[in-house]
Amino acid sequence: MKTALVCGAGGFIGSHLVNRLKSEGFWVRGVDLKYPDFSETQANDFVIGDLREQSLVDRVIDQKFDEIYQLAADMGGAGYIFTGENDADIMHNSATINLNVLEACRKRNNKKIFYSSSACMYPEHNQLDPDNPNCAEDSAYPANPDSEYGWEKLFSERLYLAYNRNHSMDCSVARYHNIFGPEGTWDGGKEKAPAAICRKVALVKENDSIEVWGDGEQTRSFLYIDECVEATIRLMRSDFEGPVNIGSDEMVTINQLVDITRSCASKQFSVRHIEGPTGVRGRNSDNTLITEKLGWAPSAKLRDGIGSTYAWILSQLEKRDG
Ligand code: NAD
Repeated sequence: MKTALVCGAGGFIGSHLVNRLKSEGFWVRGVDLKYPDFSETQANDFVIGDLREQSLVDRVIDQKFDEIYQLAADMGGAGYIFTGENDADIMHNSATINLNVLEACRKRNNKKIFYSSSACMYPEHNQLDPDNPNCAEDSAYPANPDSEYGWEKLFSERLYLAYNRNHSMDCSVARYHNIFGPEGTWDGGKEKAPAAICRKVALVKENDSIEVWGDGEQTRSFLYIDECVEATIRLMRSDFEGPVNIGSDEMVTINQLVDITRSCASKQFSVRHIEGPTGVRGRNSDNTLITEKLGWAPSAKLRDGIGSTYAWILSQLEKRDG
């Protein structure tokens, strides 16, 4: 039986990844500070523990795994990573996790590791034009991420690739672009734009208004969770180390994202634009490299994913508020 370790298995992407690996017949160990928030974990073994502690990491990486996925990070949406208030924690916590996991893998001769970097590592100066952002993989340098979260991702992706060079490891690095879908954080301050907008639309009264940070003309693309898991597994099982974008290239403004959500909800309301952290002005996944190397491209439209995410958030609200 094949074995996998998922670090961050209590998180959004990690819990979906565990389900996928289980459906393929893997024996899976998950590790996280917490269990998944919205459903029972499918992992065979789930260790509650802190990956900032090397002793815990040595304990969970105590055997050979066929595949190791390192998704654990201190992260959240714009309200968490762009305000500056959490910068020291974000950098310290995530870098420590990556340093610990890599070293434990090296010691146990575990070579095959997937690492989730982020589009937040791309330089701000290439993302000023909302209609024409440049997020091709080779635009990363000279580096100039707009957040400390992005700088930590850049450091850690270099760390994984350095272990490939110096310790003959087989790590692969993906740069995720805004992953969304059911069972993602949808309130509490760490939620990201699609979930926050779905929640606001679900709660708004007919003909009332919702708040949107900034003028809503900033552009982004959003990748549905099932597509993200598929691309992640393909990269893990390929010979390509990356870094490579895993994202959608269906770019929309935040105002268009609101329009799509409005039509999924069949509701009437207006938008009030307020001050708030907005991140870079434009961002879109450039999928040229991943299509060439892995033959992968997203298959579903944004509207389909927003439809199922909206329905799921609505059901969560009904559960919470009765
Ligand atoms: P998430 O916050 O839901 O999952 C991360 C998990 O890591 C959480 O469950 C958290 O408890 C766990 N964790 C944090 N610190 C830990 C520690 N010290 N020890 C053990 N576990 C710890 O985030 P996600 O959306 O599932 O993202 C997974 C990965 O993908 C992260 O590395 C993130 O930076 C990256 N990423 C995600 C997106 C996205 O849009 N979701 C975009 C770019 C990159």
